Amino acid sequence: MHKPIIVLGAGPAGGAVALGLIRLGYSVTVIGQARPFDAVEGISERVVEGLRGAGFHRALTAIRTPSARNATWNGESNSANTERLISRRMLDAGIWQDLQDAGAKCVEGRVTGVEQDDTTLNVTYQTDTAPNTTQTIQGAFLVEARGRAAPSARLKRFRGAETVSLLQYWQGPAAEAQSAAVSFEDGWAWMAMTEEGKRYLQLTFDVATANLPPKAELAQFCTQRLLTIPQAAPFMANAEPIGDPHARTSTPILCEEAVGDRWIRVGDAAMAVDPLSGNGIFQAMSSALQAPAVINTLLKYPERIALAKAFHQSRVNALFYRFARIGRDFYQMETQWNERPFWESRHHWPDDIPMHIATTFDEFEVKTMPVVQEGEIIAADVVVTPDQPLGIWHLGGIELAPVVLAVKQRKERQALESCLSDLALAPSQRAAVINWLQGMGLR
Ligand code: FAD
Repeated sequence: MHKPIIVLGAGPAGGAVALGLIRLGYSVTVIGQARPFDAVEGISERVVEGLRGAGFHRALTAIRTPSARNATWNGESNSANTERLISRRMLDAGIWQDLQDAGAKCVEGRVTGVEQDDTTLNVTYQTDTAPNTTQTIQGAFLVEARGRAAPSARLKRFRGAETVSLLQYWQGPAAEAQSAAVSFEDGWAWMAMTEEGKRYLQLTFDVATANLPPKAELAQFCTQRLLTIPQAAPFMANAEPIGDPHARTSTPILCEEAVGDRWIRVGDAAMAVDPLSGNGIFQAMSSALQAPAVINTLLKYPERIALAKAFHQSRVNALFYRFARIGRDFYQMETQWNERPFWESRHHWPDDIPMHIATTFDEFEVKTMPVVQEGEIIAADVVVTPDQPLGIWHLGGIELAPVVLAVKQRKERQALESCLSDLALAPSQRAAVINWLQGMGLR
């Protein structure tokens, strides 16, 4: 019997990789443990579509209808947006059911160790039913998807300022679901309230400079801090804090070695972004959706191992920097406390490179780069620009590299139409391409 691919962790990333691998015909064993704390997170429609596209069904039933989101940043309030609040316990339970429905072997347990060399992969774990017994599973390939809990001390990483989010639970009467994000001099708050009256009040601080108290005093610290934030009042009204706050590390971390010949890291295990971007689940899904094609190539096409690894690492790096810069730009919009350590250390991290670089057609180049095609990583000619360093392969189904090469070779005063005449394009495709070229100022 073939050894399975072993997926560690069953959050959105581990779940999406497992479903993708099953669709490619692989046998998959998932070892997962429910997260030890409850949390509510806010997601956009893009995440809902991502979850649907990944093949989740039951997980989608955990997603609520959009509710009002108020943001107060740089002293200005905006209530134009909505977000969908999700209970992570319910989402993760739905993901677990989806994995079982799809035919993954699901083992409820805590992974305690991984041993891997060129020929063997042994994963050890313990279950709640036999907590003193260590069990071992052998596999053919390892997917590390344990989120921020995935061990990474031996790998090269790039970290932003150390950041912590303190989540305090409150309970009050039933209320209209809503959320709010607010900046303050030493950080920012995200607060959510569900119809059942549960409130999730989350304060994010800089670890080095926030002077956080010992654990026993955290509850009082959070309550006192929240009382100084006027926008927190509706979330605290007629409500009481319950239990101890839960501290979640929220430091941005990029794992600069996210793939090997027989292992891959996805989701937060590969790169975790600042929760300010509100895109954690989106980025976790993004790195996970491409992973089955990478794994398939690593296992079946040894001659393309380097290509597949380059593909995964370059996507992980690009996603990380994109969201890190989105976060930086958002931090820069807050100018009331420029000299305070929290804001000062985030205004220019990870760099000052703009989110988008204006480009002209002269800067377009054609390069051979890794791309995904039908569950494999292959090399293809793509169009690379300063703004799109990973390359653009297709535009609405039309291969762009031949188009760019033809235009670069066109004779003086030759019409666009005629320099494209040798390419096999349908009239509608030719019109779309000319429209795209004209959009860049070519005549
Ligand atoms: P996870 O969802 O963390 O899944 C990892 C799984 O592995 C978990 O089920 C865990 O229990 C399991 N696991 C861990 N260790 C073991 C072990 N030893 N054995 C077995 N199983 C194990 N994202 C948003 O989109 N919107 C938000 O509002 C938002 N708010 C956030 C607020 C904070 C404070 C933080 C820190 C993050 C927030 N995120 C948000 C980010 C989001 O939570 C993550 O990016 C996303 O869950 C990552 O998915 P994942 O599958 O990679 O990891």
